[in-house]
Amino acid sequence: MSENAFLTVTDLRAGYGGARVLHGVSLAVGQGEICAILGPNGAGKTTLLRALSGMVRVRGDVRLDGADLSGRSPDTIARQGVAHVPEGRGTFMPLTVEENLRLGAFVRRDRRSLRGLRDLRGRRGGSAVDADLERVHTYFPVLKTRLKQVAGSLSGGEQQMLAIGRALMLRPRLLLLDEPSLGLAPMVTQELFRIVRAVNEEERTTVVVVEQNAHLALSIAQQAHVLESGRIVLSGSAEQIRADEQVAQSYLGYR
Ligand code: ATP
Repeated sequence: MSENAFLTVTDLRAGYGGARVLHGVSLAVGQGEICAILGPNGAGKTTLLRALSGMVRVRGDVRLDGADLSGRSPDTIARQGVAHVPEGRGTFMPLTVEENLRLGAFVRRDRRSLRGLRDLRGRRGGSAVDADLERVHTYFPVLKTRLKQVAGSLSGGEQQMLAIGRALMLRPRLLLLDEPSLGLAPMVTQELFRIVRAVNEEERTTVVVVEQNAHLALSIAQQAHVLESGRIVLSGSAEQIRADEQVAQSYLGYR
């Protein structure tokens, strides 16, 4: 674990109704790091991200830069700068690309973002939100060419780009990505991961990424954790995890 961690999770327990899914997860992520969460289906990876963004009730302790996030609402957690891109992307299909992006700025703390929301239908801008739209376009130029198109008409890769772009409109300090590669062609996935790395490097955004494609996740992450049945069974640097015999067999498809 990193000393002076930016995100610290201690003995996190969470589940649905009476069914406990996470049984005491502890991890720490340094500021500006990328942390990969690997593990088999049903291990609780999605639930871990949901717990971090306040979408499921938790017990235990979650801190971001010292601020206690445990038990806080999704809205409060988003205001602390946590952006969650869920599995399945969570974009609003009937809305245009631009409307989706502007909605991403909605919970921001700066008052100008409210103006951004009023401008949802694309009135003249000049606000901080407009500047952030431009920023998102530099990472995802294709979105700029699709601004007036409804999200539902985008390709899978473009939708994932929109989902991440929308999250970036929050100017997140912590970006939570759930299975960004799901259903995408390998080349599209590689491009997405390259962009996530660029965002991380240029903006020092801390990233926690849940990913079935362990090769790809470990190629951009500094550290990784393997989750099985709601418990972390292995933690280490990306190189250590890649070198682990069991991981190689189970997740990397060799040895
Ligand atoms: P996958 O890779 O298949 O998405 P995962 O590691 O992300 O798996 P979770 O989606 O967190 O795992 O699911 C962990 C457990 O929680 C599973 O047994 C699942 O059936 C259960 N679960 C997930 N969502 C709910 C829900 N909304 N209500 C009840 N149980 C749920």
